[in-house]
Amino acid sequence: MKVVIIGASHGGLQAALTLKKLDPQTEVVLIEKRSELSFVSSGIILRMNQMVDELDNVRYLTAEELSKKGIVVLLNTMVTTIQPEKSTIIYEDDAKKTCKVSYDKLILATGSNQFSTNLTLPSKDKVTVFKSYSSSVEVLRKLEQARSISIIGGGYIGVELCDALKEKGKEIHLIESAGSVLFRYLDKELSSLIEQKIVDSGVKLHLNESVIGFSDIEEESFITQTTNEEIRNDYVIVAVNARPDTTLVKEFLDLNANGTIRVNEHMQTSDPNIFALGDVISYPVRNSYRKSFIPLVNNVVRSATVAAMNVLGHPMKYNMTQKTTATKIFNNYIATTGLTEVEAKFEGIEVESIFLTLPSQLPYLKLQEEVHIKLVFEKGTHNLIGGQLMSEKDITQSINTLSLAIDKETTLEELVTMDFYFNPGINQPMGIISRAAYEFLIEKYRV
Ligand SMILES: Cc1cc2nc3c(=O)[nH]c(=O)nc-3n(C[C@H](O)[C@H](O)[C@H](O)COP(=O)(O)OP(=O)(O)OC[C@H]3O[C@@H](n4cnc5c(N)ncnc54)[C@H](O)[C@@H]3O)c2cc1C
Repeated sequence: MKVVIIGASHGGLQAALTLKKLDPQTEVVLIEKRSELSFVSSGIILRMNQMVDELDNVRYLTAEELSKKGIVVLLNTMVTTIQPEKSTIIYEDDAKKTCKVSYDKLILATGSNQFSTNLTLPSKDKVTVFKSYSSSVEVLRKLEQARSISIIGGGYIGVELCDALKEKGKEIHLIESAGSVLFRYLDKELSSLIEQKIVDSGVKLHLNESVIGFSDIEEESFITQTTNEEIRNDYVIVAVNARPDTTLVKEFLDLNANGTIRVNEHMQTSDPNIFALGDVISYPVRNSYRKSFIPLVNNVVRSATVAAMNVLGHPMKYNMTQKTTATKIFNNYIATTGLTEVEAKFEGIEVESIFLTLPSQLPYLKLQEEVHIKLVFEKGTHNLIGGQLMSEKDITQSINTLSLAIDKETTLEELVTMDFYFNPGINQPMGIISRAAYEFLIEKYRV
């Protein structure tokens, strides 16, 4: 069996490695248009926060390591055409020569591109997105030189950038068209806590404001025009509008309304010999009627594993996503899973919620940390629908517990009675998840 994979980022790599682990005899050809692979997109943030010495280190695999495993890696190689009727792809190799390769199965791991806009932009060296290693090197250099920067988009990338850029003597503007930051993941109770930290750090936060254009674009510093004001900047980072890259297949494969490739639960497209995974497909979201475009690596590696298994004839189904996330910003861990209360209502689910700030440790300990917790659950059944956590303490593993609880349709009553550990030097006899559920039930049933 010969499998060709287009795209050697998180998804393509996971699929290639899984195929080779399952069957070393499988011929795997991995094709990537960039000159390098396995760079982690938030490398800039890790570098600015001095968690790594070199941007170039933010990788976890090399082409040589893959070659040693018997995977054929073609870098600087751009696939230009797929001929599904001939099971062949045409590519331009690193010497710009046009070549052909045939496949038994093809895996599309072409991912997503950031940033599509109709706005007239200042010159390319003043407006940017970053995802690849080469764009990140460039952006890091520009960020060091820039004095006034607008970041468009208050999602994870925008907020993490604000945190990394604070206290660097620059004027930073964060512009978000919605009424709160991280609104896809957090309800107001928690997002307002983060917004306060953003403002306290000196970043100028513009909520309910959209960028509608740029002027003076020939000048050294230009004007970023929002719906409310004009901001003089010398650099703009666009952290919105990632779109699936379906250029190669949109003429012959079925697509979803949101532009992603339509796949079944085995990651198989409308052509049975072609599989797709990662950012180029949509995912079924637990408690949502829709499949959604959710560009997260946790979805990418799982869909890649499922695709590789099925390519080699081992039936495996993609489960669901709770779109679980975690980050550390402004000295706080933020972790989310499932639907927000706003999203759940939008899905037509009748929900209730509880938001609490709880002490994590018993009062005798020197170290005292608080955890902000919000649980969203269905009214009546008390099935958990979503969870949000924020603390200076590392609570990120607790979000996986909540993700599992949502996946298994766990109720508040079960969260209270579930077996979780206690250690007098670490936590309270009833841990934060159980306690939040417990406090809701006590309040509800109190006579
Ligand atoms: C700044 C930033 C930070 C992020 N941080 C996080 C995070 O902390 N946690 C998280 O879960 N997710 C994060 N994400 C999202 C995550 O990076 C994506 O979900 C992930 O990269 C998608 O992986 P993929 O393999 O599907 O596709 P991509 O990473 O988009 O890669 C697709 C690959 O295909 C190649 N390709 C495309 N077309 C062709 C062609 N015709 N020929 C050859 N090669 C081709 C591309 O060059 C590319 O290397 C972040 C994204 C960004 C931009």
